[in-house]
Amino acid sequence: MNIEQILVDNFFRYIAVSSQSDAKVTTLPSTEGQRELAALLEQDLQNLGYGETQLRDSGILIVRLPGNKTGVKTLGFVAHLDTVDVGLSPDIKPQMLHYKGSPLCLNEALNITISEEIRPELARYRGQDILFSDGTSVLGADNKAAISVMMTLAKALKTTPVSHGDIYFAFVPDEEIGLRGAKALPLELFPVDHCYTIDCCERGEVIYETFNAGSALLTIEGITAHPMSAKNVLVNPNLIAADFIGMLNDRGKPEQTAGREGYFWVTDLNGNQNSASVSVAIRDFDQDSYEARKHYLELLATFLKAKHPKAVVELDITDVYSNIAQAMGEDTGALDRLYKALEDLEIPAKTIPMRGGTDGSALSAQGLFTPNFFTGAHNFHSAFEFLPLPSFVDSYRVAWRLVETA
Ligand SMILES: [Zn+2]
Repeated sequence: MNIEQILVDNFFRYIAVSSQSDAKVTTLPSTEGQRELAALLEQDLQNLGYGETQLRDSGILIVRLPGNKTGVKTLGFVAHLDTVDVGLSPDIKPQMLHYKGSPLCLNEALNITISEEIRPELARYRGQDILFSDGTSVLGADNKAAISVMMTLAKALKTTPVSHGDIYFAFVPDEEIGLRGAKALPLELFPVDHCYTIDCCERGEVIYETFNAGSALLTIEGITAHPMSAKNVLVNPNLIAADFIGMLNDRGKPEQTAGREGYFWVTDLNGNQNSASVSVAIRDFDQDSYEARKHYLELLATFLKAKHPKAVVELDITDVYSNIAQAMGEDTGALDRLYKALEDLEIPAKTIPMRGGTDGSALSAQGLFTPNFFTGAHNFHSAFEFLPLPSFVDSYRVAWRLVETA
């Protein structure tokens, strides 16, 4: 079996289905393209001889790849069906180019070129075949590289003798618009011991720490009045909103923090004479600090209510996802197994605390510890996203090694 060829063929096959998610749509999946891709994957799995597939109304596809060995941990892999909408073309035209070190033309007609000058990380991949888009869209390695890895694995398991336990795949929609699919994954249908997402990031990267994330919405109703008769009557909701934001000022902002530092991020501000609202994203790696941040916002709301008794001030806080590491508990088995696989393959592990969330963050919020390993791609969410073929193959080799070491 030529793994390289199968990976690339799979990649082109799944990229051909446009599957951007759409944050404005509230249904799951948010777009028909994702459902179409899930149906294609189900068909491909059935053609490979995997009969135990379940395509849910939500667009979530779950499949069991039956094991031939008992008494071992059940393995789970999760990938997302959607590609991100960052205002670029929803249709992706991938191409594989050999990179020698000089600037590469991605699109002659539009004169789009990639070079080490604008993307210095390219230098590490001189002499390699690299997958690019045509410069008008993302590449979609996020996350179709992972889908291709999993589908290649499914194929290889049919032709290469290996003893392994049960393996489950879950393909979930709408990761890019708030991990919606992973949140809706029915874990009773996905009974795995060691679970992994394959997503983002360059060769070797491992993520098992992410933010705890929440969103807060402060709404303020004031009292309107004509300025000529406003004294001691008018209550200006915009000034109360400004007060609130002012008190967040020295508590960490995205633009002033890095590493494991948390923040408040004022994402939306709306106001008129009658009412105002402020949306704030809350992020912290540490659970206690995250809870303290939520508590601080509650104190601010209480304070503002006392200071402006005639206004109606309401605060609503929602937990969005949690730090993967919190779900690990005492049992580090899944993570140990991943590091061991990397070591066996002589791929240096690069562990990063991720200042964001993965589908694993949503799963760990439900108690299923789910670390992430790399697809091998760079520059996600941009027209210069690229995937070096050897890194892509290494992502597959890690998945295979995890299966072999059951
Ligand atoms: Zn992704």
